[in-house]
Amino acid sequence: MFNPDLHCHSNISDGTLAPAVVVARAARRGVSTLALTDHDDTGGLAEAATAAAVRGVQLINGVEISVSWREQTIHVVGLGIDPGHLQFQAGLAATRAGREERAQRMAAVFDSLGIEGTLAGAQRFAGNPRMIGRTHFARHLVESGRVNSIKDAFRRWLGAGRPCQVEQRWAALGDAVAWIKGAGGLAVVAHPGRYGLAPAQLRALLGEFRDHGGAAIEVVTGSHQPQEFAMFAKYAAEFGLAASAGSDFHAPDESRDLGGLPKLPAGCDPVWRQLGLH
Ligand code: AMP
Ligand code: MN
Ligand code: MN
Ligand code: MN
Repeated sequence: MFNPDLHCHSNISDGTLAPAVVVARAARRGVSTLALTDHDDTGGLAEAATAAAVRGVQLINGVEISVSWREQTIHVVGLGIDPGHLQFQAGLAATRAGREERAQRMAAVFDSLGIEGTLAGAQRFAGNPRMIGRTHFARHLVESGRVNSIKDAFRRWLGAGRPCQVEQRWAALGDAVAWIKGAGGLAVVAHPGRYGLAPAQLRALLGEFRDHGGAAIEVVTGSHQPQEFAMFAKYAAEFGLAASAGSDFHAPDESRDLGGLPKLPAGCDPVWRQLGLH
């Protein structure tokens, strides 16, 4: 049975499982078609492809690019990209470049709050040192007993507007879409319900995204409440965008698990049609 999950992470970014383990878990959970979409890095795709061939899973080469749009961080998923495309890889490398220095700035803020050792702590959780990020700090804060959950770590320190979320300039929206399209992929706005945008802002984002050549938005995602599925299905229709579905799985017991996603609402144009999948 066709059962797609087009958004998930391995330890190449801020997931906890190796790419092959993510694929095996997806297969076990009945996913027929999986896109591995690590943040700003495609280093897990080769290992995932080998595992997918063994497990009989259809693997879609994916990525999730960090974008700065009007003082907001937005995530744009790329589906069906060619990871060997040079300009695309140069774009990802530029997007990743500031992460280690950013981690030092975050640790300095923690130090100033009297919470020491967070850089070394976060580094222990980063499977890929060049992709160190807020989730690795959050896991360290949980492990060291400072908070009870990853969510609490974001609520207190790491989330938008909290003291340890230091400023960072990510890729421009038009660049991210152009890199994905240049590499033969489809650009998808990830979890549009998570940015806290007012309707006018959201419409501005989706209009710009479509004008840059974006293809779809995530309608069904682990980051949306069930009532948001219908809401974003309407936004997709309003902007002539296709609809995607993905768990945004990061780790067992931490976020929504792989597969088991509700169906897209009736009337959606599924993004997998443009990917030639069924
Ligand atoms: P970064 O790219 O380093 O800014 O980290 C962003 C990642 O942090 C996202 O991809 C999520 O995995 C995680 N994240 C962001 N906000 C939250 C939150 N409120 N609760 C849990 N995880 C979050
Ligand atoms: Mn993440
Ligand atoms: Mn995201
Ligand atoms: Mn994600």
